[in-house]
Amino acid sequence: MDSFDYVVVGAGTAGCVVASRLSEDAGTSVLLLEAGGSDRTLWIQLPIGYGRTFFDKKINWMYDTEADPGLNGRSSYWPRGRVIGGSGSINAMVYVRGQKEDFDGWRDLGNPGWGFADVLPYFRKSEDHDGGETRFHGAGGPMHVTDISARVHPLCGLFVNAAGQLGFPATTDFNGPEGDGVGIYQINTARGLRASTANAFLRPALRRRNLKLETGALATRILFDGARASGLAYLRGGQEVTVTARREVILCGGAINSPQLLQLSGIGDPADLAAAGVATRQALAGVGKNLQDHLAVSYFYRSSRPTLNDQLRPLAGKIRAGLRYLIDRGGPLSMSVNQGGGFVRSRPDLARPDLQLYFSPVSYTETPVSERKLLNPDPFSAFLLSFNACRPTSRGRLRILSADPHRHPSITPNYLSTDQDLADALAGSKLLRRLAATSPLADIITGEIKPGPEIRTDAELLADFRDRADTVYHPVGTCAMGPDPRNAVVDARLLVHGFSGLRVIDASVFPTLTSGNTNAPTVMVAEKGAEMVRQDR
Ligand SMILES: Cc1cc2nc3c(=O)[nH]c(=O)nc-3n(C[C@H](O)[C@H](O)[C@H](O)COP(=O)(O)OP(=O)(O)OC[C@H]3O[C@@H](n4cnc5c(N)ncnc54)[C@H](O)[C@@H]3O)c2cc1C
Repeated sequence: MDSFDYVVVGAGTAGCVVASRLSEDAGTSVLLLEAGGSDRTLWIQLPIGYGRTFFDKKINWMYDTEADPGLNGRSSYWPRGRVIGGSGSINAMVYVRGQKEDFDGWRDLGNPGWGFADVLPYFRKSEDHDGGETRFHGAGGPMHVTDISARVHPLCGLFVNAAGQLGFPATTDFNGPEGDGVGIYQINTARGLRASTANAFLRPALRRRNLKLETGALATRILFDGARASGLAYLRGGQEVTVTARREVILCGGAINSPQLLQLSGIGDPADLAAAGVATRQALAGVGKNLQDHLAVSYFYRSSRPTLNDQLRPLAGKIRAGLRYLIDRGGPLSMSVNQGGGFVRSRPDLARPDLQLYFSPVSYTETPVSERKLLNPDPFSAFLLSFNACRPTSRGRLRILSADPHRHPSITPNYLSTDQDLADALAGSKLLRRLAATSPLADIITGEIKPGPEIRTDAELLADFRDRADTVYHPVGTCAMGPDPRNAVVDARLLVHGFSGLRVIDASVFPTLTSGNTNAPTVMVAEKGAEMVRQDR
């Protein structure tokens, strides 16, 4: 049996950082296992390709949740990357860290070392920011953060100005001292290509001889020596392989797969395990619980001014955009479609923003959702406004349905199951309408396509939200960090309660969902987690 100091499961956003940092110690050997394969494809590396990878089963786990009463019985489609780079290879690249209070909240839940002042150095460490080094930003780190504000579609300016009319300040940096307000999102790209952690961290680290990457390797079971994780079983080419971990097994499988692997290994709620036919090794009721996600709805508007639809829909426009990209790696192909956005208060008396906004100068009302190809927008000028509540209070869960590692777990989001989340859904819907009715955005709107003017009352707005809202792809919390093994899965050093040599380092350990997008905080967790592993050697 092969043996390594560390066996890391999952070469996603977190796993690429963890494996890269651990292999900086030349005397340490690291095996990184990834169920998927190569990320060297055009549609992963080209920023606009994001829409193409959305339904590509070669690189995507393609989960469907259980039918959710909060969504009028609809199930929600949850793409997750099954490829080197993980979900960071198929995401929209928006770089947002979250609010200071998010991390102070993690600390106050009994997790010393996770307050904002504690985690800021790890955000900075990973970062190579366009604006150079400041108190808030890092320079020279592996992952590039690009400021696209000078290059976004001109309609973004109208969005920012209309929000200003409503009293929401403009900000140039959601990750700086003034994260509050509206502006242009920074994104993870470098020289016009996606800056996933696979590109930024893993690729350079693979030159080291002490780091081995195996693709097409599906981890199926953690091996134990008493209460110590001693290795891992995985399937590769239809064969079961076992490997010894001399120091630690580190799970970086993400918010769906890390709890799944714990449950497959007999760690979880005994009732869930028994129902799936898996013997309980250790009861840990929090595994798969505490599932949190952002839920957004989009409002679509026809525009009297050209939008990205006019640039990307016609063949001549596609060719122009392609040429532009080839010349200087610029233009619409080099960016995400989520260009403008913000963090705003639905009521002025709130202590901090409670809604996240998106402004995308593009629309897809006539493209079947199942295609979602960003290069095929609507054949008329239009754009969209979206929002989600920053901190949903609904909690879902996931559990394995059988001992078969290939079978998708059952995911129950329980969206909109609290009064607070319903109130936020209504407040946000009304805010989008107010924005659209405010100059200068209002001056170019020639009609609301969706939900449409016939949706007017609170009850109609809420019914529309339940009918159309969908995930923003930010599931977290299913192996939550916390001091109490009755509900938490890992402690503040990310060690699984009750075991040694077993850590979880990925988005599943967030005790609460951060107020914004989840990739940057996952990188931070991975930086800090890797450092704790090295300290504990
Ligand atoms: C469509 C989409 C758009 C998004 N847009 C944004 C955005 O614009 N900005 C933002 O901040 N966030 C965004 N996110 C969210 C962000 O990408 C995730 O929060 C982040 O990637 C989570 O990182 P992770 O390391 O926890 O999991 P992942 O990156 O999903 O990595 C998990 C890895 O583990 C592998 N794996 C899982 N199980 C096994 C197993 N049993 N054996 C071997 N390997 C395994 C997976 O294949 C995967 O590579 C988006 C996500 C999606 C899906």
